Amino acid sequence: MTEAMDGGCACGRLRYRVRSAPMFVHCCHCKDCQRQTGTAFVLNALIEADRVELLSGDPRAFAMPTDSGRPHTVFRCPECGTAVWSEYGGRSALRFVRVGTLDDPQALPPDVHIYTRSKLPWVALPDSVPAFDAYYDSKALWPAASLERRRALFG
Ligand SMILES: [Zn+2]
Ligand SMILES: [Zn+2]
Repeated sequence: MTEAMDGGCACGRLRYRVRSAPMFVHCCHCKDCQRQTGTAFVLNALIEADRVELLSGDPRAFAMPTDSGRPHTVFRCPECGTAVWSEYGGRSALRFVRVGTLDDPQALPPDVHIYTRSKLPWVALPDSVPAFDAYYDSKALWPAASLERRRALFG
């Protein structure tokens, strides 16, 4: 298991520590993620919320409108507005940590590319990483240990 990784917002007031490797890393090319980040895709590390330790700061929750209508809450530094993680579907036990806010974002390359139907045409994806037009079957793709961790969260 990877050792702990630290991250934080742009102004430095919000700092956090991820205590272990995530279960899986998504690179999402959907239109919501493009709009909300202002760029081509988002990188999310999926990890148990209780493995993310808040070191300083007080993340503020923002309810985001989505194309699907499914709840999506983004947590941001209240001072500088940097988004540090998300919750989807009101499931607060599972956190989607924004990989770009880690001090070493290279540590967590994507395990899958999703919603490539709206991928910007000049983004070239490697053949070595699975890619899907929309969502995917996590049972087929996640390592057994990660599926076990998710079962421990949601039963
Ligand atoms: Zn900040
Ligand atoms: Zn997305």
